[in-house]
Amino acid sequence: MFHFDNSYARLPDRFYASVYPEPVDGPKLIKFNEALAKELGIELDPSDPDRLAATLAGNVVPQGAMPLAMAYAGHQFGNFVPQLGDGRAILLGEVIDDKGIRRDIQLKGAGPTPFSRRGDGRAALGPVLREYIVSEAMFSLGIPATRALAAVATGEQVFRETVEQGAVFVRVAASHVRVGTFQFFAARGDTDGIRALADYVIDRHYPDLKTDENRYAALLKAVAFRQAELIARWLGVGFVHGVMNTDNMTISGETIDFGPCAFLDEYHQMKVFSSIDHGGRYAYRNQPGIGQWNIARLAECLLPVIDEDQDKAVDVANAVLKEFGERFQAEWIKVFRAKIGLVTDADGDGELVQNLLSVMQQEEADFTLVFRGLADAAEGADERFLAQFADLSKAAEWLSSWRERLARENGADGGRAEKMRAVNPAIIPRNHRIQEAISAANYGDFSFFERLLAALEKPYEEQPEFADYMTPPTLDERVTRTFCGT
Ligand code: AMP
Ligand code: MG
Repeated sequence: MFHFDNSYARLPDRFYASVYPEPVDGPKLIKFNEALAKELGIELDPSDPDRLAATLAGNVVPQGAMPLAMAYAGHQFGNFVPQLGDGRAILLGEVIDDKGIRRDIQLKGAGPTPFSRRGDGRAALGPVLREYIVSEAMFSLGIPATRALAAVATGEQVFRETVEQGAVFVRVAASHVRVGTFQFFAARGDTDGIRALADYVIDRHYPDLKTDENRYAALLKAVAFRQAELIARWLGVGFVHGVMNTDNMTISGETIDFGPCAFLDEYHQMKVFSSIDHGGRYAYRNQPGIGQWNIARLAECLLPVIDEDQDKAVDVANAVLKEFGERFQAEWIKVFRAKIGLVTDADGDGELVQNLLSVMQQEEADFTLVFRGLADAAEGADERFLAQFADLSKAAEWLSSWRERLARENGADGGRAEKMRAVNPAIIPRNHRIQEAISAANYGDFSFFERLLAALEKPYEEQPEFADYMTPPTLDERVTRTFCGT
């Protein structure tokens, strides 16, 4: 049982299409996140997996649900598409969690909708498991992201490049409103729609802004800041989202859509994994610039409600875009200062970090292990850090510049190594491990998926039983390309 309260369904009809999930042949439960269900006040009996699977696959629509597909538009790789919308995702409804926060329950892969275009409305097992693993890993890393409530096999085939097993992913989000949702109305010259949507998201995500003198300008700034913070956090764990289209950027500031995403193994600032990102538009280091570009698209949508005088509205928007850059820089240095164990601010800290990153890039050092090893170095044990570099001289030189800087921390070094370990994960969902879990699952063996999920629950702890998840891929194991899987 879900205690639904469906606010999006109360918005005007043109915001969505009502649509029921299309039942599947043989729903079979893969994974149910009981802890999350509890947070959400969902009462489903885990001892009846068939009933649970039928509900979570959309075969049985629970009482109080008002299933709908949201309308949205979006820039995909820079090209505007005026109508996208949920083509294979159905919002079952909203619940209020144990902290009083409204959360969406969405079924991804639950069948066609009026927005499916040529798609089948389905999802394949591999991408569903990837999203499950990575979104839960993000949560455990402390980075805002949508959550995984369940994965269910459908017992049906889906036809992609090859024939694959179908699955439904049950996603939980603070909301599914995206930059592209605003673009849907802007593209239609629907200023009333923009205003209604802006009021809705202020109410839901930014209630403090309600009394602001210009709440729409304040909204733009608030979204920009949350995205700047989010992207800085991504860079801090080596995350490459892979498809930062405007329809994949939330208004709430949660990471969403884990299609071709991947974490860096060896560091390279222009690293791209996605098979369709030929120009490297969404490369690791391009992410803040793209975030700003997406916020500029949001700003364009909000101009008519920010000020009737267009010049004034444009000035407001430009100021926010500039602040996005400043905020990102401030957040980035905050994240990386903590990663290298600095508590105080000093001029030249940014350069110190950049110097490390550039040695890492030259040496193809493993992003995660370098920073984790640096925590040992804070206790005087340099081996694990140095082991990531083929040519030790530059790494050793950097260590001495780092130690000179540490000496200027003025005694603020109590528990430094521990603090560093609390921000530098030991275990991240490495691509080859995700791939391993998916490959085994395709043969009916979900033990790798389960074990990886278990390891990722405590990413900042060194867990001897999961030591194999800490090591980078061998040359043979390296995954160089990822796929959207749509
Ligand atoms: P994504 O790449 O997942 O962000 O999706 C981009 C757009 O394509 C969204 O409008 C999706 O709903 C739609 N889409 C992706 N896969 C499918 C599918 N298998 N069937 C229908 N629509 C899809
Ligand atoms: Mg998407």
